Order: sequence, then C-alpha cells, then structure tokens
Amino acid sequence: FRGQVTLDGPSGTGKSSVARDVAARLGAAYLDTGAMYRAATVAVLDAGVDLTDTDAVTRAVASADIQVGTAADAELVRVDGVDVAARIRGAEVTRTVSPVSAVPAVRRMLVDRQRALVAEADAVVVEGRDIGTVVLPAATLKVYLTAAPEARAQRRADQLGVTDPTKIAEIAADLRRRDEYDSSRADSPLRPAVDAVVVDSTGLDRDAVVERVLDLART
Ligand code: C5P
Repeated sequence: FRGQVTLDGPSGTGKSSVARDVAARLGAAYLDTGAMYRAATVAVLDAGVDLTDTDAVTRAVASADIQVGTAADAELVRVDGVDVAARIRGAEVTRTVSPVSAVPAVRRMLVDRQRALVAEADAVVVEGRDIGTVVLPAATLKVYLTAAPEARAQRRADQLGVTDPTKIAEIAADLRRRDEYDSSRADSPLRPAVDAVVVDSTGLDRDAVVERVLDLART
C-alpha cells in the first residue's frame, strides 16, 4: 500500500486502536492528531493561561515544543522534552482539550504540523476529526468511523476498567458533551468528508473493523 488513509470520527469508536492496527498491517506510518491537540492542551495548562483568552492560548501552543511520533508500534508524545504520553489521557487534559482545539489559530498551527509530519511518508494512516475534510483532502482512502453512543461509552469504560453503571453513565454524558461541543461550532471539525466511507463499528469487534478498512485500502 502507498498513499494516505484518513480515519475520522468521534471518540469511543475504537478509532485509535483500529488506526494503529491498520497502519501496522500496511507497514505505514501513523499519526494520532488527537494526541497532538492533547499535547497542546498540556502546554496551555502548564502556561497557566486563562482558557477564554484565545491569544494567550495560541501563544502558549506556539511557544511549546510539541513532538508526536509517527511509528505505529510506539507512542511518543513530548512537550518541551517531557514525556506526556500518560498525562494526555488523564481527566484534566480530557476536560480541557475541546476549548483549546476550538481556537482557530491553534488549529491552523497544528494542521500545518500534521501536514509536514506526513509529507515524507510513502504510506500513512492519520486519525482525527477533520483529516479527510481539512488536513488531507486528497487522501487515497477516507474512512469515517461511527458507533452508537452506548457502544462508545461501554468501550471507553472497558478501557478504563470501569464497571459501575453510574460511572458508565457519566462517561456517556461526557462523550455526548464533547461531541456536542465539537460539532456545535460552525467550523466543526467533526463531520464525514463527502467522499468518506462510513463504517459503523457498533456490534463489530476491533479485528472486523480493521479487516474492513484493510479491504478498502487494498481495493
Ligand atoms: O481523539 P481524541 O479523543 O484524543 O481527541 C481529543 C480532542 O481533540 C477531541 O475531543 C477534539 O476536541 C480534538 N481534536 C480535534 N481535531 C482532531 C483531533 C482531535 O479537534 N483532528
């Protein structure tokens, strides 16, 4: 396989693990753009700026050295040389990432970096929200992964080892809140490209979704 595969969709669809597996199977590079927005959020939190001050948020992101790796078999995320791979998955970053990623100047900066990172790759899988629509509109294959909200909340709970139904309901509420926030804006990043293949992962296990995407990539 040579070319670019974009994998977009909301969180909790199993998108990240599917994207990583597909990249490994294709021998392709891999870029998790959500990890980049999360790393930018770490920079903003550490700068201690007011989240509603978009200029200050933009400056904090611009002045940070944000590194995101492109290997499918290793997660590398650093901010100013510090490994933040674990921290970007924590509650504080997850709570704050939506407003940071809603700042247009932040998006422009990160989109430029995303394009630069994948420019040299013969084959690459890039996952996010706006990859097929904005970042790589000429991609070889565009996949938009969806799943029912309950399936997404359950998947997230399984990842976190949560079994308490109240907690699972909280996760579902948080997913809905982030989706609404991400898709309520006029310039929402969360929508399928017109030429995307929509894959619904509800009731499918990861391997089935991976095989489906591989079939699409190979045709
Ligand atoms: O995919 P993940 O859940 O890690 O993404 C975290 C957040 O980053 C999303 O909720 C969204 O606000 C933002 N994001 C984005 N555009 C992307 C990838 C992520 O706005 N391409």
